[in-house]
Amino acid sequence: MNTQHLTWGQRDSAVNWHPFTPIKTAGEAIAIVRGEGAYLYDEKGKRYIDAISSWWVNLHGHAHPYIAEQVYEQLRTLEHVIFAGFTHPSAIALSEELLTVLPGNQRKVFYSDNGSTAVEVALKMALQYAYNRGEKKTKILAFRQGYHGDTFGAMAVGGRSGWTEPFAELLFDVIHIDLPTAENLPEIQAVIDQHADQVACFVYEPLVLGAGGMLMYEAVHLDALLHYCRSKHILLVQDEIFVGFGRTGRMFAADHLTVKPDIMCLSKGLTGGTMPLGVTSCTDAIYQAFCTDNAYGTLFHGHSFTANPLACRAALASMELLKSAETQASIARIAAQQEAFRVRVASHATIHSVRQCGIILAMNLGAGGKDSYFRNPSRHVFEALLDRGILLRPLGNVLYLVPPYCISNADLQYIYDAILGVVE
Ligand SMILES: *Cc1c(COP(=O)(O)O)cnc(C)c1O
Repeated sequence: MNTQHLTWGQRDSAVNWHPFTPIKTAGEAIAIVRGEGAYLYDEKGKRYIDAISSWWVNLHGHAHPYIAEQVYEQLRTLEHVIFAGFTHPSAIALSEELLTVLPGNQRKVFYSDNGSTAVEVALKMALQYAYNRGEKKTKILAFRQGYHGDTFGAMAVGGRSGWTEPFAELLFDVIHIDLPTAENLPEIQAVIDQHADQVACFVYEPLVLGAGGMLMYEAVHLDALLHYCRSKHILLVQDEIFVGFGRTGRMFAADHLTVKPDIMCLSKGLTGGTMPLGVTSCTDAIYQAFCTDNAYGTLFHGHSFTANPLACRAALASMELLKSAETQASIARIAAQQEAFRVRVASHATIHSVRQCGIILAMNLGAGGKDSYFRNPSRHVFEALLDRGILLRPLGNVLYLVPPYCISNADLQYIYDAILGVVE
């Protein structure tokens, strides 16, 4: 096929099927041919500010030279090796590094290759932990509006919606609870009590429910809920796939909480958004339950690209950048800018429920009410902002910013002004 006269966008439409995209109405995808810092460039040379960090993964900007250098060096040394019975320096160094920044009770790191698989591993760890101890605990507790990924187990523990409807009968049963508030803890406790001795674990996104619409809730209420679950011997599986690596203003959401989880899931920002990699970390108590003479006590889980050296090396480079004084100052600077904008639009006529956690800022657009993802009232906002060179992709009527840490104040101000211009 001669494709030379076609644009990348046209060639794409002929061959690619895109994620979360209603294909009948979608139109041509924008072909991005280059990235640098907070900017993306399309094939016509148009520049976009990547204000959502390319689906929340990017930390330090696109095509970061230091990460590129490190990955190149790794590529010339060892690109991949089986991780069963074999290991390699980048995986070891990365686990050592993660265990110094994760809550002190986390002792072992299990690698996979994305967020959904990190959650699948966590669920299997929690369920098999009970199995290995001879306990019959097969139920899982989760938030009604949570999101944990698109593979079947991760989908089952996430909220049920139009997204999961075609598979509804095949998803295992989960006890769904509301986000904790100052008032509803007794009700939630009553729900937990009905099943407590059968619940293996509670899976939750701490402080911010991302895909569920950037819903935010208070650390004190989560702490109270976690404390209650622990008193009922329910394992705590904390999904920091979105909020980890500085998004909440601290390294992990766990750093805002007093109750430490038994299992943690990481991905997205783990490699600075450069390469796919998933981590499921756990306490020594979980790990020890798999240290048994019974062969069926083994965690029989693994992916071909488990602990891929290139991804581990990218993660090591990203961690170095993230811990630098410069990046830490940027996180504080961006959080302050976001807060100022939150205050500025607090009583705006068409922007409401403005909320912020660290560098994450979210707001609902429109006159309120129950807008569904499928009505997509923010389509014109998305397109008007794109025209102005800003990539912000609303979740239904929820407009949110999750910028990379290299974004400038000038670009943030440009985005804020553009949002106000577009919604008015
Ligand atoms: C994105 C996300 C996942 C799934 O990660 P993928 O890499 O997209 O599979 C899981 N949990 C949370 C909280 C997420 O935001």
